[in-house]
Amino acid sequence: MKTIPFHNDLHVHTNLSFCAPSDVTAATYLPLCREEGLSLLGFTNHLYHARHLEKRGLTDITGVAYALRLREELEHFRDTAPVPILFGCEVEHFYNQGPSLAVEDASEFDYVLIAASHILNFPGEYINYDLSTPEKLRKMVIDQFVRACELEYPVPTGICHPLYPILSPWEQEIVDGITDSQLEECFKLAAEKNKSIEIHACIYRSGTQRDAEGISPSYLRMLSAAKACGCKFHFGSDAHKADAFRGKHKLLLRAAERVGITEADMWPLLDEKKHPTKLDGSDACVEPLYFKEW
Ligand SMILES: [Zn+2]
Ligand SMILES: [Zn+2]
Repeated sequence: MKTIPFHNDLHVHTNLSFCAPSDVTAATYLPLCREEGLSLLGFTNHLYHARHLEKRGLTDITGVAYALRLREELEHFRDTAPVPILFGCEVEHFYNQGPSLAVEDASEFDYVLIAASHILNFPGEYINYDLSTPEKLRKMVIDQFVRACELEYPVPTGICHPLYPILSPWEQEIVDGITDSQLEECFKLAAEKNKSIEIHACIYRSGTQRDAEGISPSYLRMLSAAKACGCKFHFGSDAHKADAFRGKHKLLLRAAERVGITEADMWPLLDEKKHPTKLDGSDACVEPLYFKEW
C-alpha cells in the first residue's frame, strides 16, 4: 500500500485564512521545504461557512469558491515547487451543525482535514451549550471527535489537531483527564473509519507542560493510544506564517519517533478507493488532483 512520505506537512495556511497575516502566501513556505526536510506539502486553509465570509465583507461567494483561490495561486508553482504539493482544506464542523464542506464539493480537494475542536475559536457557534467547566468542555471535545470520525467524504479524510481543546485555559486538565478507555474508543473509531490522525503542533505549543525536549508528554500519551489502535498518521505544523513552520518539523518528527510511529504508519492517502480523481473510472491508485506524484 502506498503511503505518504514520512517527511510531510499536510496542514499549512495562507492569507486566505483570516487568522493568517495578510502577506503569507504559498510562496512563503515553498523555499523553506528543503531545509525542513519535507518531501510533501499540503495546504489546508479554513473552509468557511458563507455566513463567516459575509462577516468579512465577502458576499456572494461560497466557502469552496473562496478556498479555490489558492488552487489558482498554486498553479504558478506547478513546474518549480521543490516538493509535491497537495491541495486540501480544513473543514469547520460545529456541534449539532452540518460541516462547512458539502459531500458533493469534496472532490475539489485532494484531501480534507476535519477541525472538530474549533470550539472556543468560534464561541458564537456554541452559545447554546454550557462549557463552563473543564469536564463539560472535555466532553464536547470528545463528542466532536466522534462526530468527525462519522463524517464520510469521497476523498481521503483526516482529523486535524485531534482532541486538542484550542484556546482553553484548562488544556492540561482536559487532555490529561481523557481516560485510557475514552482514548481507545476514539482512536478505534478513527482507525475503523479511515481517518488519519494528525501529529500536530499542540505537541510543542505551550498549552500543556513540555519536557526537556520541548515535547508534551500529555500529547505523546494520546498519540501512543492512537498508534495502539492502528490509526494512520500525517504531520501538521498548522503554520499560519513562516516562523510557525521553520524549525518545527524536527519536533513533530521527534514526537513520532518517541511514540514509535514510522513510515509504515503514515496515511495511505492516495490508496483510498473512493478518491474521485481516477480519470479512467478504475479503482487504480491515482495521481494527486493537483500536483505531481511524489
Ligand atoms: Zn484548526
Ligand atoms: Zn489549521
